[in-house]
Amino acid sequence: MIQDIAPHRLRNDFSAGRTPSAEDRLLSYRDNAVLSAADGLRLPRIGDFSVFSAHYAFSLDGVPVWLTMQELPESDAWHFVESKDYRMQVPQEIAFACTVGESLHRWYRANRYCGACQAEMKDSKTERALCCPNCGAVLYPRINPAVVVAITDGDRLLLTKYANRPFSRFALVAGFCEAGESAEETVHREVWEEVGLRVKNLRYYKSQPWAVADDLLLGFYCEVDGETKPTLRDGELKLAQWFDREHIPDDYSTISLTGEMIDRFRTGKISVDK
Ligand SMILES: [Zn+2]
Repeated sequence: MIQDIAPHRLRNDFSAGRTPSAEDRLLSYRDNAVLSAADGLRLPRIGDFSVFSAHYAFSLDGVPVWLTMQELPESDAWHFVESKDYRMQVPQEIAFACTVGESLHRWYRANRYCGACQAEMKDSKTERALCCPNCGAVLYPRINPAVVVAITDGDRLLLTKYANRPFSRFALVAGFCEAGESAEETVHREVWEEVGLRVKNLRYYKSQPWAVADDLLLGFYCEVDGETKPTLRDGELKLAQWFDREHIPDDYSTISLTGEMIDRFRTGKISVDK
């Protein structure tokens, strides 16, 4: 998955009072595109540009990385790379860092002013938060929890395809947690809404910070319970089809939790439930 960058390490610890230095790395975005060296995925140093202000983002292998809200100028040496392109590139630790920065950039941009009193928000000095100096409102980055569900029936796995999205590869049932709902309840509701099936024996697998959409994905394997014929119910999918383990197509994302869950079933690393 995209966050599996060991031995490299991205640390989110908030460093209060840190001041940028010319050697620190810099993130600059134009919408969902990040500024990178033109000859490969590489972040500029602060000293490469005239930057007036920046938020501390995180460290990568011990090097501080800062996020400027300025859209820095392109040149022969530096250009913007779209999110859908850079996240498939190497070095993977840079691609992952760019997705995390993209999420922070979206959050800072959307919360420049207080939603309650419209005063200009300021960085908290003690944590990753924005504070309103007028009314005292405090905002934290908002992350959306969602589930990814691998439904099995013995040696079969249910694969799906989205109806109205650019992503055209095979996927799994997935959806956002609603207010007042546990992740397990989301699994049951989404499976019913998307493919009209009941499931049992939920097993939590792993999570993935899918920062390109501000999501935290929670992966579950579960078994179909009763009726096995899928029914497309809410129009979100154009296909839901059972595949025997040996016939699962090798056509899924390699950087996503979804892809890893399909791959683990396909290659026999997940046990058969019947
Ligand atoms: Zn306010």
